[in-house]
Amino acid sequence: MRQSLIMGNWKMNGSREEGRQLAKALAEGLGDVVQQVVVCVPFIYLADIRDVLASSLIAVGAQNVADQAAGAYTGEISAAMLADTGVKYALVGHSERRSYYGDTNQSVANRFIQAQKQNIVPVLCIGETLEEREQGRTFQVVDEQLDAVIDAAGIEAFAHAVIAYEPVWAIGTGKTATDEQAQEVHHYIRQRIAGRSQAIADKLQILYGGSVKADNAKGLFAQPDIDGGLVGGASLDAKGFLQICHSV
Ligand code: PEP
Repeated sequence: MRQSLIMGNWKMNGSREEGRQLAKALAEGLGDVVQQVVVCVPFIYLADIRDVLASSLIAVGAQNVADQAAGAYTGEISAAMLADTGVKYALVGHSERRSYYGDTNQSVANRFIQAQKQNIVPVLCIGETLEEREQGRTFQVVDEQLDAVIDAAGIEAFAHAVIAYEPVWAIGTGKTATDEQAQEVHHYIRQRIAGRSQAIADKLQILYGGSVKADNAKGLFAQPDIDGGLVGGASLDAKGFLQICHSV
């Protein structure tokens, strides 16, 4: 039985005070939940939000991590720095990083490895564009994104990692994959991992991301291979995000 995981991704939104208020509302409203809840906040606010959430069950995550350990990499934030700040999870390979900032499968694999070296759980984001789906290349793209990390980090690394399937065409667009479309790819991903290790595949949390909202979360989370969600826009509203957390 896999524990559910709900992650919010605030992206580059809000002020320090707005972030603090949002975190406070989440901590107060969460109540007793059995699933893990994480909020991935802008680097500059990680310490503030960590403090607001200190006595709650909600963990803080980063939205990215450097692909190198330390050194002359101006503007980057290392995994060691994140661990030092109390970060438990880090997104790697979010589609916005891949498409706007040139993250490649190789650099995503390096970020994944750097995070794990510091005991931070990497959340590997993978997914196809609309064009790739229409060309019937969804599984091929997922294979390429996944295999690059498996080859670099080894299958055993997935015992301490999370995968987020995020079809690019569903991120921030209001178009959600149907429950069946999402389940089909989640099942495929789990089988791909099972091809290397059934035990790791059985335990691996695979999250769905792409316009998850309070009104579609229940159906998605009820699918056998969907273990929770990575929620962007809807995580900026405490009431909506709490409803999603309670949909598991
Ligand atoms: C995301 O940021 O990973 C995401 C899925 O965004 P949204 O929920 O807004 O589509």
